[in-house]
Parts: sequence; C-alpha cells; structure tokens
Amino acid sequence: AARQVPDYLTGLNPEQKLAVETIEGPVLVLAGAGTGKTRVLTTRIAHILATGAARPSEILAVTFTNKAAREMKERISGFIGGNVEGMAWLGTFHSICVKILRRHAELVGLKSSFSILDTDDQIRLIKQIIQAEGIDDKRWTAKAFAGMMDGWKNRALTPDQVPEGEARAFANGQGRKIYEEYQDRLSVLNAADFGDLLLHVITLFKSQPDLLKDYQRRFRYMLVDEYQDTNIAQYLWLRLLAQGNPNVCCVGDDDQSIYGWRGAEVDNILRFEHDFKGATVIRLERNYRSTSHILAAASHLISHNEGRLGKTLFTDFHEDDHDLVSVTSAWDSEEEARSIGDEIEALQSNGHKLNDMAILVRASFQMREFEDRFITLGLNYRVIGGPRFYERMEIRDALAYFRCTVQPADDLAFERIVNTPKRGLGEATLKLVHELARSQRIPLMQAASQLCQTEELKPKPRNALKEVIGNFERWRAQLDSLSHTELAEIILDESGYTEMWRKDRSAEAPGRLDNLKELIRSMEEFESLAGFLEHISLVMDRDSADANDAVSIMTLHSAKGLEFDTVFLPGWEEGLFPHQRSLDESGRAGLEEERRLAYVGVTRAKKRAKIWFTSNRRVHGMWQSSIPSRFLDELPPDHVEIAEPSSNYGGYGGGGYGASRFDKADPFQSGSYATPGWQRAQKARQAMDGFSEGGGRGYQSARQKRQGPLTIEGELVA
Ligand code: ATP
Ligand code: MG
Repeated sequence: AARQVPDYLTGLNPEQKLAVETIEGPVLVLAGAGTGKTRVLTTRIAHILATGAARPSEILAVTFTNKAAREMKERISGFIGGNVEGMAWLGTFHSICVKILRRHAELVGLKSSFSILDTDDQIRLIKQIIQAEGIDDKRWTAKAFAGMMDGWKNRALTPDQVPEGEARAFANGQGRKIYEEYQDRLSVLNAADFGDLLLHVITLFKSQPDLLKDYQRRFRYMLVDEYQDTNIAQYLWLRLLAQGNPNVCCVGDDDQSIYGWRGAEVDNILRFEHDFKGATVIRLERNYRSTSHILAAASHLISHNEGRLGKTLFTDFHEDDHDLVSVTSAWDSEEEARSIGDEIEALQSNGHKLNDMAILVRASFQMREFEDRFITLGLNYRVIGGPRFYERMEIRDALAYFRCTVQPADDLAFERIVNTPKRGLGEATLKLVHELARSQRIPLMQAASQLCQTEELKPKPRNALKEVIGNFERWRAQLDSLSHTELAEIILDESGYTEMWRKDRSAEAPGRLDNLKELIRSMEEFESLAGFLEHISLVMDRDSADANDAVSIMTLHSAKGLEFDTVFLPGWEEGLFPHQRSLDESGRAGLEEERRLAYVGVTRAKKRAKIWFTSNRRVHGMWQSSIPSRFLDELPPDHVEIAEPSSNYGGYGGGGYGASRFDKADPFQSGSYATPGWQRAQKARQAMDGFSEGGGRGYQSARQKRQGPLTIEGELVA
C-alpha cells in the first residue's frame, strides 16, 4: 500500500521537503527572502511531533520575536491538529534563557525571583556607579558605557574576559572596574539586564557540566530562525547545547542580516558547516511571496552589496497586471503621510483589508506623522514592535509601583517612585537612604525602613517614608487575596499616583490617565502581577490582543520575517535611508547593512511595494532640503514606475500652510513634480563623486561641501 503523505508535507517543493525530513544531524537552510524558510521550520516541528521523534517539551525552537513564536505555535497546531501547549521551549533566545535562569538562578548568585532591567534602569545604575567612582559622567557617559558593555555581553565576555585594550578605553582604564561593579550591584539588587540573560546561562552551562548534559539530553531537536542575526553569545549558547546532540537546524539569509549594530555576526552562517560537522546545507530558490516586479527590484538592489554569499531567486508569480514598484515624491513628511493615507483609503474602498498593509519606517520618529494623520482620518492603525506604549512616563511609573510591590529589593523601581507623586522627600533624605543601603549592602526599601526607626530623619520626611513603606507592605500582603488587576488599581489610587494626574492641568494629563486605564486592561490576560511584569520586561508589544482590521506601522527592523500585500516605504532620502549615523560610524559596512535593510523592506511586500521620498524634511525644527536615496538609483527601471501622488495637494485647507510653500511653478520643488528633481539630483550627485559605487566617506565629504552634515533626529530602533 502506498504510504500516505501527511497533509503538512503537501505543496512543499523538493528542497523544502528535504529540509523538513532531514531531522537527524545538523542542517543549514540558506535562502533568500520569501522562500519558505520559516515555513520549513514550522513544518519540521510538525513533522518531528507527528512522527513521534520527540515530545513537544523536547524541542527547542528559537524565533526572533515573541510574536513570531506565537504565530509558529498556532501554525504547528493547525498542521497537526494537536495540542502544542507542551512546546515550552519555543520562544526568543531571551525568553528561553529567562526560563532556564529562573530554575537555577542561585548558581549564578541570583534568586529565582530576579527582576529584569530595562535600558532606562540600566543607564541610571551605570550613572550612579560612574559618579560614585568620581569619574566625570559628562565626558564618560553612562550611555556610552552601556553600549560598550552590551557589546561585551553580546560576545559573552564577563568582566575578567574583556580584552585589556577595550577595558582600558573607557574613563582612563576604568572600564573593567565599572563593569565589575555594575554586575556586583545587579547581584545585590537581584536583577539581570537583557545581555545577562544569555551570559548567565552560558556561565551556568560552562560551570555545571551535569546541568548542561541535562539540557543537551532534554533538547532532542533544536531549530533557529533568522540565524543570520544571532550574535556570538547566542552562537556559543547554541553550540554548548548542540555538543551532545547535533540535531540542530538553522535557517537564515545573509542578505537580511540587519543587526550588525547590535552585535549580530553574519559569519555565524559561514561558520556553520565548519562547526557543525557533516552539516547538510540546503538552498531554496523559489520565492513564494512576491510578484516578479517586487522580486526583481529587491534582487537588483541587493546586488550592489559586495561580500554576499550570492543566491538565485525566482518566482512563478508573473502576471501582466501586477503593479510595478512605485516611487513617489512628496513635498515633506506631512504630505507624505497625507498621501499615503489617501492611498490606503483608496485601497480600502476597493476592498483591501487594512491588516494587509504596512508602513515600514527607517527610524521610529517617522511614525508620529502617520499616527497623527491616521487619527485625523479615523484609520485604524497599530504600532508594532516599538517600545512606545510601555516607554511612556506614566506607564513606567505605574510599572515601578508594581515592581516594588512584587519585588521589594527592586531599588531602581523604588527610586523612581519614592517621591512621585511629590511627598517632600528631598535629596538629603534620599542620600541618607542610599548611604545606609550601600554601607550595609541592603535594598533601599529596607534601608528606608531602618532609617524610619531612628531619629536621623526629620519628622516630615520620616512620616512620608513610613507611609510609602507601609503602603508597599499592605499591597504585598494583598497579592494573594485580590485579583492582580484590582490590586493594580488600588496601588495607583492609594499611592496618590492617579490623583497626581487628575490634578495635573497639562494638556497631556487626560491621555496619561487613559494610558493608565489601558495598562490595567492589558493586564487582564495575565494570571498574576509577576507574570505580567515578566511579560513587560520581555516584550514591548501590546498588539497581540488587537484583532481589529488595522494598518501596521513599524520600523524596518521589526518587520523582519513578516509579509503584507501592500507595503509602504516612506522616507527614502539620503541621511535618513541610508541613515547618516550608520554611514558615519561604519562606512561601507554601514551602507551595506542599510541596503540589506532596504532589501528586507521591499521583500515584505507580496503584491505592492510603494516607495516614497520627500523633498524637504524638518530637522531639529529647521527645514532642510533632502536628496533622494541612492537606493532609488539602484532599482531596475523596468520594474519601477514614477508615480503621481494620489491626492489633490492644491487643496490644502490648513491655513497658511501649503500654497505659499508649495509652488507648483517650480518643477523641482513641489509634490508630483519632484521626481524630475530626483533624477536631476541623482545626476548631479554622481557627477560630483561617483558615489553610487563609493562608501560612506566619499559621499559624506561631498555632502558636507554642499550643505553641511545632515543629521536626523530620531533613533535607530528595532
Ligand atoms: P523571510 O526571509 O522573509 O523570513 P521565509 O524564507 O521565512 O521569508 P516564509 O515566510 O516561510 O519565507 O514564506 C513566505 C511565504 O511563502 C509564506 O506566505 C508561505 O506560506 C509561502 N510559502 C512557502 N513555501 C510555500 C510552498 N511550498 N507553497 C506555497 N506557499 C509557500
Ligand atoms: Mg522567515
């Protein structure tokens, strides 16, 4: 009788099938965007489970985002129709490491209840250490040190392992000492930062061979998506686990390596065959995602990078009526947002879903304009992957209250809110608390409590402190008896925090109160305050529950692995994209990483890729004319059309704005006429230094000669 082919295997091409079925031994799938790498991983897990090769809890699967992990779980359960809840080890490197670390925290000097520091906390802690060392923290900033230290952690370097030269580079040779003290402080605080999660687990594995063996045995099969963006620490971690067990499958695309600035090592891909002996390398060449125009545009663009592994990509998706990749110019970012908003509405009225559309920006500051515009239009949108909501001041304050309740030793949280709202606890009082805490190596809250027993404080601050501490004790006692959402509300009320914003007359206050309400609402899906806090520290993504039809707005970095019918790519201007900072800091390598980012952006599109650039951008409140991105030059003309903006820009209602600045008579300035301007600018630029080929430096000097360096305010955030 013919063997029945399971459903999940049907439709796979032969290479994909090979990658799914080769479950023994190391496998590397190296393939371009949209070729089904993630699908292979998902199907492979289904295959492992369906054939009984392993139980759900014996599979370790690493995704790049928490969202991707959730989606993968859903798909696997769709494939095999079974319960995949047992897949306890499907997640990001960080979430998997947290889980391991909580089980064995005491072996690296933490308690299993340790808290996870965010960047803000990290910086404040470093600053304290730098100041305590008597180092000028203006010259040697905490931020700079945090960057250095993250770099070390990404390379799995503990303080004693940092190379002498690098350690010496900060504050006249004090780098190592600060790193040491920082780690010391964390341990006293019972906290870990993001980089530590991996670092500690590596330390654990290296120092506890039996424990490592346990995990090697447990993880019968290991799978890693987006392998091109793993850093050295992640690579080491994986290798430690794979030592006893070579069933590791990594999938990736060197052309989509976009986290070099965060320590990712595309070399990990190149090393795979060497380090995992006998590896099967599989290439996938058929793209299932995009139209031939989109694929041609992306391939042509990325071909301008040197040092690629090189891949062929083809699609069977050829139709005459497919849209070309469009390039549109706008006067400024407001017009860009207005015009993209119009296109979205037009698509929507033709029956397209907002869920199938995304706006991918280079820098997060670009988002606001779209948010504003969509609010005006009443278009649903969601911001994905950004730290936006949970980064807001009132949210951070509220979280600090919750953290202190759950974890009284959380000094950073305590410091944040001890005098918020104002309770008359001045610098002098806090200094006393700090001194006591430091000399006795105890948490601030405990020190404060001790101080309250003495006469050292004046009655007013003493009473205020007593009240704060008493509050936290009471709330903590209610952790088990009240639901966590009820308790959260009580905390915000009884602390006077909500009241503080109610009394506030500023324009933002109502919005802040709304955000606090939203925060409580978002807690409902969790079982406990601690569970919620852990979620917050790992994910800064509140969109999971949002099932409505909505346009997605996100950075290019966070769009990795995703796909949409229509993708809008605004802001393709020199200085913004490619981003000036990456050109300045990393020259040619930086430019190539920017180009890979452009490749990632274009290849997110299934049916329509729409690129925009503006002629003017406001930088630090000043208008500057901008030059279209060199990446536009690198698109293949046969697959690209110069589009007219869809909206009627003559009809600006906004008083004073528009008509005067928007001179249609000048073909090189205004809206739909700016594209000849683009071509002209490109010519001029090429004539100047031929930098279509050149690295960052040649371009930069040309730029400086012409109009000074262009810096764009905003963050390169993932
Ligand atoms: P990226 O590099 O962007 O992460 P990828 O290689 O992971 O892309 P997938 O996201 O797995 O690609 O697949 C791209 C799209 O093609 C998905 O919609 C997927 O369902 C579809 N696809 C993959 N393989 C097949 C196939 N054999 N038949 C039909 N559709 C497929
Ligand atoms: Mg993928």
